[in-house]
Amino acid sequence: MRQIRIHVDSPLAEGAEVTLPEQAGEHVARVLRLGVGDAVVLFDGSGGDFPATLTGIARRAVTARVGARREALPESPLRLTLAQGIARGEKMDLIVQKATELGVARIVPIISERTEVRLDAERADKRLAHWRAVAVGACEQSGRARLPQIDAPRPLDAWLATLAGDGAARLALLPEGETAPRALGGLPHQALLAVGPEGGFGERDVAALRAAGFAGLRLGPRILRTETAGLAALAALQALYGDF
Ligand code: SAM
Repeated sequence: MRQIRIHVDSPLAEGAEVTLPEQAGEHVARVLRLGVGDAVVLFDGSGGDFPATLTGIARRAVTARVGARREALPESPLRLTLAQGIARGEKMDLIVQKATELGVARIVPIISERTEVRLDAERADKRLAHWRAVAVGACEQSGRARLPQIDAPRPLDAWLATLAGDGAARLALLPEGETAPRALGGLPHQALLAVGPEGGFGERDVAALRAAGFAGLRLGPRILRTETAGLAALAALQALYGDF
């Protein structure tokens, strides 16, 4: 039987009784119609799974007793950061969901020269909370026990200025890029992958990426939509250097 996996936003410990997040509680009680004594699996995003037993199903609170932590799925040996030019509406949700399934470790929503989406501070906060919820759902569904980090949206230059000399491969997806995924000749254990928005990177963006040491990565001869490009690159890199 399929395991019901539920993310709980606070550290879990064996023997504790926890109240499930409201939406998850409602799903468990009303949609799945589980009852006291039924089994679920909880995770807090730190990498382990906790089998748990439902102990209370009330209208507003579903509770569960936490069992012993067990190791969950390992993360990919290739730590991938996706710096994604913010795409419109549901496309960005799709990117966050699928990138999480594909094992991305971190997503940085990027504002670049040709970004069409306008986000004031309040909207940016709402979008970020929404994207984090999308990633939680993807972890619950895919069996992943570690949540990818999702950063607040930031300008490309501001992100580049934060990069440390940690030895991560720096790759910018460019249709005219000079290298292909399989020609990278191995990768360190970390890679940064920058993807342009719907209109692509502008000249100033490309100059800034180049100045920061990014190589141009080309995914074949066709122009891919932004939501295809990043996901295709993640899959290719996982297949060549990660855990596919
Ligand atoms: N005319 C735009 C250009 O030349 O950049 C097309 C933009 S494309 C719809 C959106 C983003 O997807 C690009 O900025 C790039 O990051 C990525 N992309 C699309 N096709 C690609 C390819 N064949 N190779 C590498 N990156 C690609």
